[in-house]
Amino acid sequence: MLLTCQAGFEALLARELTELHGRTVTENGPGWIRLAEPAGAPTAIDAPLLPSLAFAHLSLVSPVEFRGESVNALASQISGHFLETLRGERIEAAWPSVWFGPHELVGLGRRISAVESTFIEQLKKRLARVAKLASPDLPRRVGPVRGLFVHFVDFGRVFVARAAYVHGPRRMADDPLAPSRSYLKVEEAYVVLGREPTTGESVCDLGAAPGGWSYSAAKRGARVVAVDNGPLKGGALDHPLIEHRREDAFHFAPPAGQPFDWLFCDLVEDPHHVRQNILQPWLARGWCRQFVVNLKFGRVDPIGLLRELRAAQADTGLRIHHLYHDREEFTLVGQAPAPGPR
Ligand code: SAM
Repeated sequence: MLLTCQAGFEALLARELTELHGRTVTENGPGWIRLAEPAGAPTAIDAPLLPSLAFAHLSLVSPVEFRGESVNALASQISGHFLETLRGERIEAAWPSVWFGPHELVGLGRRISAVESTFIEQLKKRLARVAKLASPDLPRRVGPVRGLFVHFVDFGRVFVARAAYVHGPRRMADDPLAPSRSYLKVEEAYVVLGREPTTGESVCDLGAAPGGWSYSAAKRGARVVAVDNGPLKGGALDHPLIEHRREDAFHFAPPAGQPFDWLFCDLVEDPHHVRQNILQPWLARGWCRQFVVNLKFGRVDPIGLLRELRAAQADTGLRIHHLYHDREEFTLVGQAPAPGPR
């Protein structure tokens, strides 16, 4: 299997797989690692593993390696493999044809585009209808997907898979009114969670300033209580759906009997402190129905933290991700087990 992650975090993805799952990493590069294939049917064996990974972004299942010096040599091998593995498969709708590789290799992007265009030209000559339905986008949902996934590890070496697992992290589009880069994280969290705030819902945003997360919820029509001593800015400042409360996040509670639909929490604080004194009590008291909580791991061992979080994962519906827009932090998303009385 070949797994991708944020560039610079491949050592942590490798540690997650070896220390927490007992797997063997055979090779890595910027933003990717390769795992030794287990004996038996890899898709079935990896099925329970894949949804639990925090650092992985996209996993290529049983990829085949091709090498070639020229654009044509690579494209011909990839189209040959694609046509061979297509036998018996009917393609009636748009299918993902995803071509990528480490941005760190200068000029690799041009190489990838050239091989991709040549592949599509070759495919048009054989199966014009299938070529027309190719889409460069990954589906906006988490889970297994079939298509063509071509990952370049350098100019003359690629890994090609027909099946992949989408973990969810992806680059999001910015909004000029968003007051912080942090806005992109919560937008991405909605994709991994599979839902987002909507009109009429309520959101409590702890550690809200300058207001990227609050703005993201308010622009969807949700009412937001933004808790922070700092000032709100940009699109969050004076937004009619955002109420700014200059209070301490650790002492803030919803009015009796009125839980929030959403808890957002993005405090630059010790992750254990946030987990024990915000996430756990909010869930235990039924103060929110779903949550997006960011835990910073800059000062703790991320794999140790992951091990602790995983122990709590089963009973809270908690999912842990290192998002495309995350730095040294995990984004935790989930739904509260069942709203209860305070
Ligand atoms: N999510 C925000 C956004 O999208 O713009 C960025 C949040 S920023 C990383 C962290 C914020 O937490 C800071 O504005 C800081 O003032 C606030 N903060 C830290 N400790 C706090 C506390 N105990 N109570 C309330 N806010 C706190």
